[in-house]
Amino acid sequence: MRIYIANFGDSLRTISVAHDICLEELIKLNPDVLSADQDIAGIQVKLPNHTRIYINKTKIPTCPEIPVYREQWVPLTSLEQMEQTEYDVLIVGTGAGGGAVLWRLSEQWGNNGKRIGVVEAGDLLLPTNAQNIATLDPERLLKYYFSVGKSPLQYPSPKIYALGGRTLFWWTVSPRMHVSEIAGWPITVKEMEFYYKIAERVMNVTQSFTKGSSITQTLLHRLQGNGFPESMDEPLAVDLEPTKFGVVNSNAFFSSITFIAKAMNRPFDLAVKARGVQVLTEKEKVVGLKVMSPEKKPYFLKAKNVVLSASTFGTPHILLNSGIQGRAIGHYLSNHSRLSATGKLIRSEFPEILGPLRILIPGTENRPYQFQILGPGNYEWVQFKEEPLSPELEVKFLCTGRVESRFENKVTLDPLRQDEYGIPEIQVHFNYSTRDEIVIQQMAETLKQISSVMRVPLISRGDRPAICLMPPGLEAHETGTCRMGDDPSATNRYGQIHGIKGLFVADNSVIPTSGTPNPTLTTVALAIRTSDYIIDQFKNC
Ligand SMILES: Cc1cc2nc3c(=O)[nH]c(=O)nc-3n(C[C@H](O)[C@H](O)[C@H](O)COP(=O)(O)OP(=O)(O)OC[C@H]3O[C@@H](n4cnc5c(N)ncnc54)[C@H](O)[C@@H]3O)c2cc1C
Repeated sequence: MRIYIANFGDSLRTISVAHDICLEELIKLNPDVLSADQDIAGIQVKLPNHTRIYINKTKIPTCPEIPVYREQWVPLTSLEQMEQTEYDVLIVGTGAGGGAVLWRLSEQWGNNGKRIGVVEAGDLLLPTNAQNIATLDPERLLKYYFSVGKSPLQYPSPKIYALGGRTLFWWTVSPRMHVSEIAGWPITVKEMEFYYKIAERVMNVTQSFTKGSSITQTLLHRLQGNGFPESMDEPLAVDLEPTKFGVVNSNAFFSSITFIAKAMNRPFDLAVKARGVQVLTEKEKVVGLKVMSPEKKPYFLKAKNVVLSASTFGTPHILLNSGIQGRAIGHYLSNHSRLSATGKLIRSEFPEILGPLRILIPGTENRPYQFQILGPGNYEWVQFKEEPLSPELEVKFLCTGRVESRFENKVTLDPLRQDEYGIPEIQVHFNYSTRDEIVIQQMAETLKQISSVMRVPLISRGDRPAICLMPPGLEAHETGTCRMGDDPSATNRYGQIHGIKGLFVADNSVIPTSGTPNPTLTTVALAIRTSDYIIDQFKNC
């Protein structure tokens, strides 16, 4: 309720006219006023909550009122509405893979009348990559990620169920797969190069983040001249363009939200809190998808093509729950082994202005591991945090080893446990092979060499040894559970599930072998390629 102090000449009737309030409502709220026309100057008049505060006594007309909106920061469609449409393409999941498919289809199709739908199991969480949020630094970002992520059984890698998927938290490190790795894939190196270029352009991948940084350039020089000539400024998906002519580039670190924003130049339907649970097929052709709302209500969405982009665990989960049992579906789960280490750097060896430290030593044909070197301390990127003056600085080493693709590493449906939707949970079965363990040993030895040539000795801190092996999965680089390729594989060379027309996979799960680089750039490149294949299928109709 609002209170209004009546002016000279005011009565309940004049107030009701001026404020556009029903007179009866006003009389009811103010029973002490004896008549509607009584002069009530100086009296506290009770007004309903919806009353306009300002009375326009000027001769200039009042601007129209702003209607009440129920809008979000991204346009959403209800599942009830989505049930009314037959989609040409329905995308499941909005992480790196799903976002890339949405962007490419929208970019290529424009407003040609094709209908695109997207369902995302999670809700709206962050409207950008967490690195763009001024209150976060590398340490707090990780803590926040672990607090909002959910891990599947027996596997520590948290999954982010939210619009944008794990790209809300990824560190944007975007190296290409080494050509020797691609040689074993069902795609030519030339074709991959073509799609890497498109992916790098749309994600703003650059090596200029550390341009002019004395710490990076000095350490790169030491590495390149002492046995590690491939060492480079780390390629990052960061938009370094200044904001000008009204084009805002402050959302620097890339996330799938940028894919969604770019796709908004043409219409598509997007539902959040919409979990895809079962692919619907007829005569070996996809016809739609069963989706569940948080109220456990089922919806049946019609689609000519379904693209599963629900992640390396989510996608085989949907396929297995749909009874789609290819020989490789859920199998060949791979990731990267990861060593973590800290080194000590003598501050006085470097110029006054340091800049960020981001170096990548990529894997090669003969070296099945890569190194990321970050720092100083927690300053590889920050917004407002101030670096204290200190005689010594910490340098972080993240070492990433190739892991073999093996049938026995897999995800399966748990026969005993069901989730709140009554759907079997997934179980993860994963172990390193003897070969993987040899790679881990070699990686540790090479790390010691690197620390020596950089003149950054490794240190232990408290109970944390100088070099430690992270539990498998914590690096969040799982791949392979719907691997693309020739037999035994889950999809053909374009990401289409064998034997089911119109059913595609576009996320980390299609990557045939882990190689050594961080996987997301490769996932985006492959997802764009799968989208182009889908577009071609429509041309052939
Ligand atoms: C802290 C961190 C740092 C990282 N840094 C890097 C890096 O520097 N470089 C790099 O290459 N990679 C990095 N990664 C990994 C990167 O985030 C993943 O490679 C990438 O996001 C995988 O994309 P995706 O599409 O396979 O899956 P996700 O991004 O996980 O997206 C899957 C989406 O599907 C949704 N979903 C799941 N199940 C369903 C369902 N049944 N129905 C509907 N929707 C569903 C999820 O909610 C999610 O939105 C990092 C990850 C983390 C967590």
